[in-house]
Amino acid sequence: QAKSDHRHSLQLFSAEMNRRAQERASLERALQQALAERSLTLHYQPQVLSSSPDTLHGVEALARWHHPTWGMVPPSQFIAIAEEAGLIHTLTLWLLDEACRQLAAWRAAGHPVPCVAINLSGRSFHQPGLAQEIADALKQHGLRPGDVLLEITESVMMDARPVTLANIDTLHRQGFKLSLDDFGTGYSSLSYLHRLPISELKLDMAFVQDLTTSATARALTVSVLSIAHSLGMVVVAEGVETVGQQQWLQAHGCPVMQGYLFGKPLPPEDIEAWLGARSAAHNH
Ligand code: C2E
Ligand code: MG
Ligand code: MG
Ligand code: MG
Repeated sequence: QAKSDHRHSLQLFSAEMNRRAQERASLERALQQALAERSLTLHYQPQVLSSSPDTLHGVEALARWHHPTWGMVPPSQFIAIAEEAGLIHTLTLWLLDEACRQLAAWRAAGHPVPCVAINLSGRSFHQPGLAQEIADALKQHGLRPGDVLLEITESVMMDARPVTLANIDTLHRQGFKLSLDDFGTGYSSLSYLHRLPISELKLDMAFVQDLTTSATARALTVSVLSIAHSLGMVVVAEGVETVGQQQWLQAHGCPVMQGYLFGKPLPPEDIEAWLGARSAAHNH
């Protein structure tokens, strides 16, 4: 009896594995097609100055995939698929081109968007041509290195592959700025901060969301702000949702904030409306 139960659960298990593998394969095929058709889109989330929350520090480009039958597929899911399926470099090149095109279009239309932040997967740094491809994408749209901020994660900082180091070095020499995303959630040592050309730290939203309830989160945030300040780095607080969080961050000298309190990731035309509403308010 026990033996046949066991066999039965094994069969269920392998049926489940099989179902997941098929789901995965069809997601991968659909993503490949979406990339070929250029049907992914970018949304942009406002990053505002603490001293003047109606003023943009920049916007962060976030990839969106709307599948005709499955609906919105979250980036946490399709970025991982793109990485495993070897599609991430194609995705990175597309998003670079699209974000640069959009920034140039905003500027041409007189919208004051100071810079666009782009998320770079660690895998992209394994591509020997990455730094040059980024430079080419900007040039094609008449932009300068200071017009984009390249967001990397702690895993890139820890990656000692020569190809990764060479890409970082080339980007730095060309004047690109790096931003360290989700800061505080990884395992990297603080000593990396001055070994690599990092000009901005993005304080992970896990800290921000605990600010009003956890003394530990407050203590860690004070230390991050102090380290960043002494190293000449900008701090962007991610995931700011409440006025309480905003006020605490403002009082403790955090220069830039990003979160639903100021604006969700928005399609490009809504960024224009966001800016329009604020400049209209200032003119009254
Ligand atoms: P991330 O770069 O840390 O982006 C911030 C995420 O937090 C975004 O989720 C954003 O929508 C969300 N967020 C912003 N403000 C708030 C808030 O106040 N409250 C809450 N609860 N969430 C907030 P999203 O767009 O789902 O992206 C998730 C992650 O997927 C990103 O985290 C990034 O790591 C990755 N990702 C997104 N787009 C791209 C891309 O184009 N390329 C790469 N390589 N990764 C991307
Ligand atoms: Mg990011
Ligand atoms: Mg982040
Ligand atoms: Mg994140």
